[in-house]
This record gives sequence, C-alpha cells and structure tokens, in this order.
Amino acid sequence: MVSGTDYGKVTSDIVRQLSEIVGEKNVLTGDDRMNYNKDEAPRAKTYLPDVVVKPGDTASVCRILKLAEDNHIPVTPRGAGTGLSGGAVPILGGISLSSERMKRILEVDEANFSATTEPGVTLVELCAAVEAKGLYYPLYPGEKLATIGGNVSTNAGGMRAVKYGVTRNFVLGLEAVLASGEVVRTGGKYFKCSTAYDLTQLLIGSEGTLAFVTEITVRLITPPGVREILFIPFRSLSDAIGCVPAILKAGILPVGLEFMEKDVIDMYEKYSGKKIPMHDYAAYLMVIIESENEDAFINISERIEDVATKNGAVDIFVAGSEAARANLLEAREKFHAVVTQNGLLDIADVVVPRSKVAEYVQKAKQIGRENGISIIAHGHAGDGNVHLEIMGDAATIDQKKEKETLIKLFEAGVGMGGTISGEHGIGYTKKGYLPLASSPEKLQLMRRIKLAFDPHNIMNPGKVV
Ligand SMILES: Cc1cc2nc3c(=O)[nH]c(=O)nc-3n(C[C@H](O)[C@H](O)[C@H](O)COP(=O)(O)OP(=O)(O)OC[C@H]3O[C@@H](n4cnc5c(N)ncnc54)[C@H](O)[C@@H]3O)c2cc1C
Repeated sequence: MVSGTDYGKVTSDIVRQLSEIVGEKNVLTGDDRMNYNKDEAPRAKTYLPDVVVKPGDTASVCRILKLAEDNHIPVTPRGAGTGLSGGAVPILGGISLSSERMKRILEVDEANFSATTEPGVTLVELCAAVEAKGLYYPLYPGEKLATIGGNVSTNAGGMRAVKYGVTRNFVLGLEAVLASGEVVRTGGKYFKCSTAYDLTQLLIGSEGTLAFVTEITVRLITPPGVREILFIPFRSLSDAIGCVPAILKAGILPVGLEFMEKDVIDMYEKYSGKKIPMHDYAAYLMVIIESENEDAFINISERIEDVATKNGAVDIFVAGSEAARANLLEAREKFHAVVTQNGLLDIADVVVPRSKVAEYVQKAKQIGRENGISIIAHGHAGDGNVHLEIMGDAATIDQKKEKETLIKLFEAGVGMGGTISGEHGIGYTKKGYLPLASSPEKLQLMRRIKLAFDPHNIMNPGKVV
C-alpha cells in the first residue's frame, strides 16, 4: 500500500537542489505545474505535482532520482501526457519528471538500420529524421505528438500493428536510470540476443514504474513503394468484423485493419465539417496497405476486393490520392477527440484472439444493452484490439452500473482468452481491474520485480501493481 503521507515532502531546500541540477528555469513550482496534472484519460481526476523538473541529459536524471530516493519523494515520469490510463499523472504529488528537454535524435545508423534517440523526441520527429535518410520507422500509434519514451513505456501499438507489431517489436536497446540513480544499458544495435534476462522487454510497457528511460535504440526498415487505403462499407458490424479473418486467412497481410460503426463516422463529420465517402452504411473496414510497387498493390487490393465482396462488402472505396488518404486517416485519428466531445466516460482497451473479435464485440454490445450503458465499439480488428467507448452524461450516469459494466466487459475479454489492455496500459485508472487478468501469483511476482528495480517505491507509485 502507498499513501501520500508515507513520502517525503518537496521542501524549498529540495527545490534549490533540483535547480542546481537542471537550472532554475527548468524547475516549475508555480501555476505552470497545471500543464502536468493530467493526461488524456477520460474524466480522470487532476493531481498537481509539487514540482516539475525538466532534465536535459542522463547525468541530470541520475542526480534527480538519487535526490528523490534519498528523500523518499515520489517521481512520476512524463512524456507528452497523451496517455489514456493516467500513467503520467502525479497522483501522490512529488516530482513530475518531464522528458521534454531530452529531444536529441542521437543517430540514424543507415548501415545497421537503427536510430537512437532521447526519450522526449516525438513520433513525428523520429519519423521525419529517419525518412530524411531513406529509412522507415513503421509503427503508428494514433497520437503523433506522443514521445518515443512514452511509446516505449506504454508499449504503444496503433494502426499498423497487423503487419509490424507493436513498439516492443522495434526496440533494440535502452538506457534507463534506476531509482538509485544508477544507469542500466540493455540490448544494443543487434537483432539477436540470448544473453541472460531480457531487460529491454521488461522495461518496455512498465509505465515508468521501474526506471526512467533516457535513451532508445529502435530498428528501422526500408520504406514501402506504395501506400494506400481501402474503405469498405458493410450493412452490419458483424459483417464488417466477420470479413477480417477471411482476409487474413486468404494470406493477405495488410498493415492495418480498422473497424468502425456509422455512429462514430456521423459524429466525426459533424465535428470536422468534412465528409467521409459512402457514409450511409452501418459499419466499415479501413484497410491500410503498404506494398513494394504498384503491381503488388493491384494484386493485394484485387484479392481484398474479392474476399470482401464474398463476405458482405457493399462496395470498395480506394482512396487513390494523398488528400483522400489523409482525410480517412485524419478521421480515424480524431475518433478520441470526437467521442470525448460527445460524452466519453471511459474506454475499455480489451484485446482478444483475432478470431474472437466479432464474438467479443457482439458480447460487449449485449453487456451495454443489458446494463443500459451506451457503448461505441471501434478499433484494430486485425490485431484483436477493441476500443469500447462508454458514453453517457457524467452528471447523471449511475457510476455503480458503469463500473459493473466495465468489469463485465473485461471479464468477457479475459474469458475469451484475451486481456484488459492491448495498448493503453494500466496506469492508475485500470489498476483496480488488473486482478481480473492476472493471478495472485503473477501479481506477486510483478510486485517482487518492481521492488528489485525500485526498493523504496518512488518510481510512479500507485500505478500498475
Ligand atoms: C488521440 C489519441 C490517440 C491515441 N492512439 C493510440 C494508439 O493508436 N495506440 C496506442 O498505443 N496509444 C494511443 N494513444 C495513447 C498514447 O498516445 C500512448 O500511450 C503514448 O505512448 C503515450 O506517450 P506520451 O509521450 O504521451 O506518454 P505519457 O502519457 O506522458 O506517459 C505514458 C506513461 O509512460 C511513462 N513514461 C513517459 N516517459 C517515460 C520515460 N522517459 N521513462 C519512463 N517512463 C516514461 C509515464 O510515467 C506514463 O506511465 C492515443 C492517445 C490519444 C490522445
């Protein structure tokens, strides 16, 4: 158990020492701390850090963490604050440790197909730097302003996971600072490793509870020749999702396979003033394709058309231009903003085996109906990751009912062989539900791992385990 009273206070002497480490202008103690009191988790409570500290290098991170540990002050690592589970929210006050000044891209190594960056580099900045060298970092978590440090710490997924996987599939090595101030280097610019425990993979997805990540080496590939999007309308959601296994079974591997219903398309059109093609159908698949050249693209799109038509597709829209592709992608990227504006109360980020997506979405909708809770379902059908947006009026919602519904949604996902978060992480908003997906033995083991890294529990206390 942790509580705010177990921890040391950020005194004026601590603030002075922090200023000595990073310079006065990089230590915030006034109203500007408000920018660090929340992330993008819906309806999450705000918590003000006692102090925000912005180190510019690894040596400063070491000194800050040593100072925090010596004085038993909680530290909440923070990237861009776009997380959806409250991971970067300083729920016990203390230090908000921001990576925003650690923004150097240290190397793009063309010979080894790798890039090494500091954690505060954003996804969009990394992509631009590697593309300038003719290389490609293919992962595409929907929020481009998120940092690479945040992507690593949440094991971000996104819209290209069907073909490329998630962040952990592209990280080769890390540098991280432990609570003690010691620096640990894991992995390197090599692709194979059978040398003792894989600490890189343990740190990925640990949501700042084990260490502060200060350097990241990622794998790169060559860029595709052709990028295209097919937008496929169906008369029902079950037809749309039911088509996904048929596409994959046919040996077709798109980059992404997203599903969505008409309600969220309608909301987007109202929100943006823009029109989505063929917007009058009940449900859609957005198929994102990357291929070597035009011939390969024609081959894959004809095969998808064939399978989709046999599985209930009404028509097929090929974006065909940069503007049309951008319009479709922007719509998908804006779903979070759109549902937030329309009464988003919470998100369940359940992942199930791919073959169970249709069954799971049907079950989730049934749970919503039985409990009188409106649920919008959309997500990454091709990798089994379903986003269930719980909608309603925050002022009048029956909170007990809402929580019971969330539990039933998680239980149904776990019951089908899945788990409670595919990419958003646990943070503190989903921490109470972790036992639904983890046995007591597994939770105990995770707690012991946490203690091995951080014996005094100063790294993001109150999160995950
Ligand atoms: C519109 C929108 C769309 C999104 N779409 C997707 C999507 O498609 N796929 C997806 O996976 N996510 C998505 N997200 C969620 C979010 O963008 C990701 O979780 C992202 O990885 C968070 O990065 P961040 O820099 O904002 O991290 P933050 O929110 O600042 O932090 C996230 C977690 O990482 C920890 N952390 C951050 N930096 C470090 C560090 N250097 N060392 C140790 N711990 C650290 C924090 O303590 C926290 O626990 C979306 C969010 C929004 C708002």
